[in-house]
Formats: sequence, structure tokens, C-alpha cells
Amino acid sequence: MAVPLRRSARVIDGTRSKYFIKKEAERSVKKEVNEEVSVKKEVKNEDEDDILIPPRDGVVKKESKEEGEEDVKIPPKKKVKLSEGESGKPIPKNFYPIYEQVKKMRSLIVAPVDTMGCAEIPITLNKDIPLSPRNYRFQLLVSLMLSSQTKDEINYKAMANMKQYFLANGFNDGITIESMKWIDEKKLDQLIFSVGFHTRKASYIKKSVDILLSKWDGEVPNTLEGLVSLPGVGPKMAFLTLQKAWDLNLGIGVDVHVDRLSKMWHWVKNKKGPEETRVELESWLPRDLWTEINPELVGFGQSICLPRGRRCDLCTLSKLKLCGNVDRALIKKVETMGDDKLQEMNSKLRFDPTPLMDIEDL
Ligand code: SF4
Repeated sequence: MAVPLRRSARVIDGTRSKYFIKKEAERSVKKEVNEEVSVKKEVKNEDEDDILIPPRDGVVKKESKEEGEEDVKIPPKKKVKLSEGESGKPIPKNFYPIYEQVKKMRSLIVAPVDTMGCAEIPITLNKDIPLSPRNYRFQLLVSLMLSSQTKDEINYKAMANMKQYFLANGFNDGITIESMKWIDEKKLDQLIFSVGFHTRKASYIKKSVDILLSKWDGEVPNTLEGLVSLPGVGPKMAFLTLQKAWDLNLGIGVDVHVDRLSKMWHWVKNKKGPEETRVELESWLPRDLWTEINPELVGFGQSICLPRGRRCDLCTLSKLKLCGNVDRALIKKVETMGDDKLQEMNSKLRFDPTPLMDIEDL
């Protein structure tokens, strides 16, 4: 028997909830604070999605254990624009209705990013040992450097491997800048073998450690320029590091999920990549949403609206007619599907969808 979503037919009319009205009131206060933060406006861009290989002839072979993987094209380096934010551009009409539903769905489920995203890994990983703010910042940076082209679960495993190795070798705080300075690059490469581009990432991490020790007193930089000067660190990683390590809200961390979903809902017009999407989003998205939008959309893209195999049957946006990309064939199929088949389909997900099946109040 199919497991239907029990939902009312009420269509959201674009009215903002109390949540967003409250946010707007807070925004005027935060804006003043943010305006005081001054940073240089143009910085070097490593790449769009933080692919970490410097271009030689523009095409490099992806390091991977899997056979038949294609060469990776490395985009040319370009300038990164630091946006002023809230430039007065109108907020897309469908933004609040969609975003409110995304937040609602996300509040009911645990996506990989919630426990194994880069900002969460140090917390999840170090429950049994102390984690100082300095070590949190360093582990955040390392997990971000490992994260490109790599699933959160794989990234977590690589971080766990490193932690265990350091503990076994007398580093009681696990992954620290000191233990990372100590480790041999080849050994580091072995420990992170499961992540994409592992050899280059190991090299970049070792080089970054030297830079942090010589120029930053062993700390993670608290400026955009400082962060993108590290090998392999692009704007997405830099903005996320500033937000999570230093509480500096200078830009949106746009990854492939944020980029894809923003385009799908027509929140941005560009047909290019995450960097262009970041600049467009920053031109109208209220600054107090810049930090949260990344984990909200990343988790949504990891669980419900997957790049391949999206689950429109679990998504409230389909019932509310808020998304123009609904897979109607899938919804029909699910409606006539037996319990066993549905269970089998759900078992392939990276999260427990049960709470989404019981949503009554849209
Ligand atoms: S494509 Fe489907 S799963 Fe994705 S947002 Fe639209 S309705 Fe939801």
C-alpha cells in the first residue's frame, strides 16, 4: 500500500511567517554591525567548488580509485567580488514561501551535513576528548580542505582516521596544527585515501600548516585574504571558515547544492557556477540568512531534492505547488507502490524520511 503524505491543500500565498518578520526586525541591528567590518574587496579565487588542483594545461586527471573517471577541467583563476549585501535588489517572490518550507522539512530530518558537515565534524568527532576553540578552528579548516568532491560521510571517516592515528602516537588532542606538522605527508595521504584528490589535499594541508605556523602564529586566519592565500582554499571554504571559526558573516558559502537549488527555483539568473550564484544571492538575500542558508540547502539537497533521484513525493513544495520541477511520474509511481517497494526505495536515502510522511499542517 502506498504511504501517502497527509497534507492539507492550502497553498501558501507568499505571506511571511512570524519567524521572518522577527528576522527583519533583527536585521536592521545586525546590518549596522556588519557594515563596520572592513575587508579588502578583491581576492584571489582558487576555483568554483574548491577543486584543489592548480591548472597546468587546463585539464588534469582526477585522482580516484574508481575506473573510468573523467578528466577534471580546472576553471581559470578569477577575481572574487566581496559583496556589500542587501543592495536593494528585490527578493524573489517565491523565496520566503519556498525557504520557509525547506526550513520546516529540514527541522524534521537529520541530513548528513547536520552531523558530518565540515562545521559539525570537529564536534561530532571529539566527544571523547577536549576540543579547544583553536583546535576547532583548525579541524574546521582541515575538514573543509578535504571536503571538495567528497561526501560528508567519507570526509568524516578520513578525519576519524587521522584522529585515531594521532591519538595512537601520543597526541592527546587528536588533530591539531602540531600533530599535523609532525605527520609525514605520505602517511597523511594514506589516512585520507578515501577522499577525492587525496594526494593533492595532503600536500595542501601540509603546506598550509607551514604557512599558519610561520605567518599566523599557528592560528587559522580571520581574514578572507589570509584564508584564500592558503593553497587549495577557495572562496566557499573561506566564507564558511570565517562564519564558523570567527563569527564573521562576510559572504555566503555556495556549494553545488546551493548553486543547483538557487538556479532551479530561479533565485539567480546566471548559468555559470557557484561563484556567480554567490554574488547574485548576496545582492538580495538578507544578510542574517547568509550563514544558515548553506546548511539548510545543503541538507535539503543531500536528502530530499537530490541531484539524481529527487524525492518529490516527500517534499512539501510539490503539494503546495511551489516548485516547477516536480517529478510527477515519481509521485504517481509512489502512490501505487506497495509498502515493500517503498521501504526499499527509502532505505537508499541518506536520512530517515519517516517524519516527512506524517506532515499534516502545511
Ligand atoms: S524538484 Fe521535487 S524534491 Fe526538489 S524541490 Fe521541487 S518538488 Fe521538492
